Amino acid sequence: MARAIKENVIEIFVHNIRNYANDPHRTVDDYPFGGGPGMLMKPEPIFEAVENISTTHTLDSKTPKILMTPQGRTFNHDIAKELSQNEELMLICGRYEGIDDRVRQHLATDEISVGDYVLSGGELPAMTIIDAVSRLIPGTVGSKESIENDSFYEGKLQYPQFTRPVTYRGMQVPEILLSGNHKEIRIWREKQSDQRTLLKRPDLID
Ligand code: SAH
Repeated sequence: MARAIKENVIEIFVHNIRNYANDPHRTVDDYPFGGGPGMLMKPEPIFEAVENISTTHTLDSKTPKILMTPQGRTFNHDIAKELSQNEELMLICGRYEGIDDRVRQHLATDEISVGDYVLSGGELPAMTIIDAVSRLIPGTVGSKESIENDSFYEGKLQYPQFTRPVTYRGMQVPEILLSGNHKEIRIWREKQSDQRTLLKRPDLID
C-alpha cells in the first residue's frame, strides 16, 4: 500500500466524522429511539461529511458510497474486482451500536460486510476492502502474474508453494518442483489447485 501511494497509483483520505458535528462537544452519537442498549451514530455529521467530501474531492455522482455493515453483501474477490473498476470509492464506517438507518436509506449506495460477525467499528472492514481492491489496481502489486496466481482470481484456491531449504527436519519439497520441467510443473500445480478447491471449497467449483 505504501508503495502504491508513493507512486501515485492510489490515494487514500481519512475523514473524521467528528469534525462535521456542529455542537461544541462534537457529538456524533445519541440514544436510540424506542429504547435499547448503547448509542447510535447520528445522521447529520455523516450526511455533512459525505456532502462536504463530495465537493472537496470532486467525486462524481456515480462514486459508490459504501456503508460498512454486518448486514451488507459479504465481501469477496468478485466484489473487490467490481469495486476496482471505480475511479473513487467512499467507505462509511460506523461505531457503537451502528448508524441511524436514514444514512443507509438515503445516503449510502451500497452496503458491504466483511463476514458474519460483528466488529466494534467499520475501520477494519474499510481497511480490508481498501487493501483487497488496491491489489487489483495495476501497479500496486509488483507483478501482475502474482495476483493472477492468487486464490479466487480464477475461481480456485492456489496450489501449495515451497521455498528453500529442499529438506527441513526430514520434510521434503515435492520432487516435481525441483525438476525444472515447466510444463510438468504447470500441470501439477493445476491439479493441486483443483484438488484443494474440491476438498476445501467445493462451493467454488460451480
Ligand atoms: N448493531 C449492528 C452492528 C454495529 S457494529 C448490527 O447488529 O447490525 C458497529 C459498526 O461496526 C457498524 O456500524 C459497522 O460500520 C461496523 N461493522 C461491524 N461488523 C462489521 C462487519 N462484519 N462488516 C462490516 N462492518 C462491520
